[in-house]
Amino acid sequence: MAYKITEDCTACGLCEPECPVQAITAGDPTYFIDPATCVECEGHFDEPQCASVCPVEACVPDPDHPKK
Ligand code: SF4
Ligand code: SF4
Repeated sequence: MAYKITEDCTACGLCEPECPVQAITAGDPTYFIDPATCVECEGHFDEPQCASVCPVEACVPDPDHPKK
């Protein structure tokens, strides 16, 4: 399952440099995760890094994009 960024995002920018596959881009008004690129950090980290660093818990699993 890919991760997504909810409307709670404050666009702080913390998550973007943490993504190992550059799936996160700055957007307006919130940041955005490309579901086709996100690998849930598998093979890179034990936990999704975006969710780990987000101060407002805006990075959550996206049931609309299950694992292929
Ligand atoms: S879960 Fe990992 S791979 Fe997916 S967007 Fe977050 S940091 Fe990037
Ligand atoms: S760390 Fe959280 S609040 Fe900051 S840009 Fe990423 S999703 Fe938005």
